[in-house]
Amino acid sequence: MEKIECTSCKQEISPVETYVKFVCPECETILYRCQKCRTFGHIYRCQCGFKGP
Ligand SMILES: [Zn+2]
Ligand SMILES: [Zn+2]
Repeated sequence: MEKIECTSCKQEISPVETYVKFVCPECETILYRCQKCRTFGHIYRCQCGFKGP
């Protein structure tokens, strides 16, 4: 099974957990955020250098 890693905190996200999947507007890499980072509004940083709230 594919492992999902949170883009913000680098924690592994289990498939049963609520998470958000979205595409980086800059490079179209698929990014994931765990529920916790979403709740606290942690900044994520893509490999291309794009940062978002
Ligand atoms: Zn996270
Ligand atoms: Zn990117």
